[in-house]
Amino acid sequence: MGKCLTFLGRGSAFTDEQNGAFFTDGGELVLIDCPMSSFNKLRRLGADTLAGSENAAVTVIVTHTHGDHVGGVPMLIHYMYHVMKRKVTVIAPSGEVADDLRFLFDRLEGCSPDSYELLTPETAERAWLLGAVPTHHSPALEGRCFGYRLRVYGKNVVYTGDSSSIDPFLPYLEPGTYLYSEVSLYDTPVHTALPDLLAKTAGRDIRLFLMHLDDAEKTGEAIKGTGAELAPLLG
Ligand SMILES: [Zn+2]
Ligand SMILES: [Zn+2]
Repeated sequence: MGKCLTFLGRGSAFTDEQNGAFFTDGGELVLIDCPMSSFNKLRRLGADTLAGSENAAVTVIVTHTHGDHVGGVPMLIHYMYHVMKRKVTVIAPSGEVADDLRFLFDRLEGCSPDSYELLTPETAERAWLLGAVPTHHSPALEGRCFGYRLRVYGKNVVYTGDSSSIDPFLPYLEPGTYLYSEVSLYDTPVHTALPDLLAKTAGRDIRLFLMHLDDAEKTGEAIKGTGAELAPLLG
């Protein structure tokens, strides 16, 4: 029952600490999305401290291009390159999203092409990356929103990213899976409703962690007795 992903923030778009997590693999610090609030925490604490090793390689895997998920990525690239003298690796979930990110990094944010490496799951060659899972979220970003299947500290991990429902991820919930699912207390077409998530995952041999929370306190109240937990924050 050890820990798996650690969250730098677990809030939805309109919160102070937006959703982002990390884990380490050898000397690699892997961030899952990087809102500006995650970048600021990383800068304050130090990438090496988070990684638990000197000269950590920093990799960010991106779920989709909403600002509360990629807002801190160009700043992280600038900071790591100019201050820490390291190149960040960014893994996009698809070639299309990679093209969008390249426009953001190069054209809008002026990142030097030398300052980052942009990969997709096909080219990343990381043992911990099992694959990206396409999902539905914002209609304007249809086809460009993904979750991930990961292998972290020996555990099967499913991470939904922002998703209108848990359905695309149900085939991957093998026994023992750590499922990190976004959830909303509000009934909206772009996020996963809590009652639907709980109903569809009930009785499965998994651990369920909730993230991208509109209101952590209210969500905590709503899941009492269900076995679901709020995603674990750093510290
Ligand atoms: Zn979001
Ligand atoms: Zn989103």
